[in-house]
Amino acid sequence: LEPAYSFMIRTRTPGGVVTPAQWLKLDEIATTYAERGLRITTRQAFQFHGVIKTELKATMKAINAALVDTLAACGDVNRNIAVSANPRQSAAHAAVYAHAAEVSAHLLPNTRAYYEIWLDEEQVAGSPEVGEPIYGETYLPRKFKIGFAIPPYNDVDVFAQDLGFIAVIEHGPAGDAQIAGYNVVVGGGMGATHGDAETYPRLGNVIGFIPVDALKVVATAVVTTQRDWGNREMRKRARLKYTIDDRGLDAFKAEVEKRAEIVFEPARPWTFEHNNDRFGWIEGEDGRWHLTLALPAGRIVDGDGVRHLSGLREIARILDAADEGVEFRMTANQNLVIAGVPVSRKQAIDALVAVYALDAHRNASPLRRDAIACVALPTCGLAMAEAERYLPALTASVDELLRKHGLGDAAINLRISGCPNGCSRPYLGEIALVGKAPGRYNLMLGADHRGQRLNTLHRENIDEAAILAELDVLFARYAGERRGDEGFGDFLVRSAVVSHTHPSHYEVTP
Ligand code: SF4
Repeated sequence: LEPAYSFMIRTRTPGGVVTPAQWLKLDEIATTYAERGLRITTRQAFQFHGVIKTELKATMKAINAALVDTLAACGDVNRNIAVSANPRQSAAHAAVYAHAAEVSAHLLPNTRAYYEIWLDEEQVAGSPEVGEPIYGETYLPRKFKIGFAIPPYNDVDVFAQDLGFIAVIEHGPAGDAQIAGYNVVVGGGMGATHGDAETYPRLGNVIGFIPVDALKVVATAVVTTQRDWGNREMRKRARLKYTIDDRGLDAFKAEVEKRAEIVFEPARPWTFEHNNDRFGWIEGEDGRWHLTLALPAGRIVDGDGVRHLSGLREIARILDAADEGVEFRMTANQNLVIAGVPVSRKQAIDALVAVYALDAHRNASPLRRDAIACVALPTCGLAMAEAERYLPALTASVDELLRKHGLGDAAINLRISGCPNGCSRPYLGEIALVGKAPGRYNLMLGADHRGQRLNTLHRENIDEAAILAELDVLFARYAGERRGDEGFGDFLVRSAVVSHTHPSHYEVTP
């Protein structure tokens, strides 16, 4: 008798966009096959947890029937492309999303194995060789992540991506937003290994500006250079960030220019206000409305006093029946935008949001609302410590400390991950806990609020009491010594509580 193996399935949903009809189907799949409903990831995908092996194929087929796939959502290929869920600039978002979807399709592997294995197309072994002009016979040395940011929001943490594109927006005579091109960022990445100086988080470098029509050739050139130059002997050093540090940024950029047959223009100025989401309703340029809901750790469930799955199902049903072009957009901070809502539909959505308390988390403290946790225990086999399950208790304790020092409204980015792989992008938290062992974490401090400066190790392998004691002292100083609306991370760096010593700890500046 075989053990009851269970699996996690992750969708490929570039930019995290799904229609109401797709939402309803994905909801049905989650309730039929997975544990604990839907979960939004930090790459704008859905994860289905606890799918048992005997139902794996049926689940994959059902996902495909919803016109969503899981192709290249894992593995040493380009993963789900993240796109800023910027709801204000509707036209700019639509254009950037279309560009991202094009790049996503362009970088898909050609293999038919996915369709053969999961969708019963032809035989699995001995199928005709289709060839992989981008990935070659051995694919990439390691996973590869791409993100598109639309200033002024860096909600995708573009500097944490292997390859990032910062949209450069120009306004036409009528004030309409147009994408002039993109600033290109290379070599970001979060993952590290505890106690191994050869691994480290790194922010990407801005290497120049390209016009829109160079997007695919530049993406191809960056991916193929990493394919050919990346470290295939030491897997822990196989990410693009190490390739760039080993070979030099100038050499890497020159190779990309050669392969893409372009010359990068100087980077254009950009400004990011923050790397969080914006919540509540806002009106887009086209008069449609967008509602961003805060969802704790991206978890959409019924149970434990919440009915988020039911509430969003009701909203999706109404939107699907109305067929007014409304979309759901997952954010890279694990929240959800109901996007493109006609003004006539707002009231009905508001009523359901109230009935199902879908907006309750938005009214929590800023710290709790913006916190990000990876899934960690008991789901992730790599977890060394709790993250998602510990987040409510942790943020309650930290909030209490903030209130004690009169800082209850301080918008401080807190992120927690169960291991140093960094799925919750913890190295960009002003406060971050990175799991070392059950109940013990590395306390990282000092990132900025725009995703342009990493934090650094402050205390190693400490428990909750020690974490709170450290924060108590630092909040007292912050309350007394901060200048104006100075962020907590900026204060810690200015006052030399934390100092950045690693070469990767530079601050990205426009
Ligand atoms: Fe798992 Fe580590 Fe990623 Fe958390 S950061 S989900 S523990 S691999």
